[in-house]
Amino acid sequence: MQKRVIIVGSGPAGYTAAIYLARAGLSPCLITGTEVGGQLIQTSSIENWPGAFNYPSGFELMDSLEKHVRQLDVEIINDTVQRTDFSTSPYLLIGESDSYTADAVIIATGSSAKYLGLESENRFIGSGISACATCDGFFYRNKEVAVIGGGNTAITDAIYLAGICKKVNLIHRRDTFRAEKVLTDKIMALAEEGKIVLHLDSVPVEFMGEDHLEGLTVKNTKTEGMKYIAVDGVFVAIGHKPNTDFIDPVIDMHNGYIITNRKPYSRTSTNVPGIFAAGDVADEIYQQAITSAATGCMAAIDAEKYLNSLSAD
Ligand code: NAP
Repeated sequence: MQKRVIIVGSGPAGYTAAIYLARAGLSPCLITGTEVGGQLIQTSSIENWPGAFNYPSGFELMDSLEKHVRQLDVEIINDTVQRTDFSTSPYLLIGESDSYTADAVIIATGSSAKYLGLESENRFIGSGISACATCDGFFYRNKEVAVIGGGNTAITDAIYLAGICKKVNLIHRRDTFRAEKVLTDKIMALAEEGKIVLHLDSVPVEFMGEDHLEGLTVKNTKTEGMKYIAVDGVFVAIGHKPNTDFIDPVIDMHNGYIITNRKPYSRTSTNVPGIFAAGDVADEIYQQAITSAATGCMAAIDAEKYLNSLSAD
């Protein structure tokens, strides 16, 4: 299937790129990936998307972006790209269901949740350990859970879970939080109410249980003391890693993130002319829905200029 421009990824960056390219008359094709809507669909409440003062859930926000894209007659393909060949143009993308070629590609595949990497953790992923509070929190209504991490995701998850669970243990490896102050203030208020129990300077060392998780042991990094916390569920919220496994190694990366702003093209261009990257997959720093959307817009404008330059040749 030959296309002029293909967008890979269906998060805020991918959908925004699709809107701009469609409006430029370039009939883009968007390949969704397995997690349609991107990782934002796992967020219970988006409180910093400008204008969305009614705080939609991540699912609601991404659903409205998808509807916007569909209204513009963008071709949306439910496939997951497994491998790419960017050594020659047209560029090749091999998906699970089909293969595609394009003159220009925008990579907007975002990032995925990281796990701790403990051996005992692997045993319980899917039977007590999850990386998505919005998806799985429901199973732990009126039960005791733990959240691991101190960033925006962990704090947002802990606040959400405090509303449905009997008790939330927040386990963080330091004594200060990386999360925004407005969120940390909410956590402190919930801790005072007794809805959240803070375990600071603490790291999980082992998860325990028979068929299903029953608890975990944490170590205090200052005192070296060990503590067992009985919980029915654990939500790991320790950050994300960019989804780049399928990308031809010809593309330059740093710490797994795609390097952009390469000459001679533009802010979202990679080292291969015609291959652009937008959103978290190319962003080691900001990783916000709004910055993803913004770079999606930039990538679309950059890709349009690139395609026009090909037609002019
Ligand atoms: P993050 O900001 O990187 O935070 C990860 C947290 O996990 C940090 O507190 C970190 O501890 C901890 N951590 C990392 N590795 C660990 C390990 N091996 N063991 C124990 N703890 C570990 O990741 P995030 O919270 O997923 O957020 C990612 C990005 O998305 C951020 O830019 C964030 O602002 C954004 N985000 C925004 C919203 C929102 O605006 N509503 C919601 C969610 C996410 P240290 O602090 O000690 O490093």
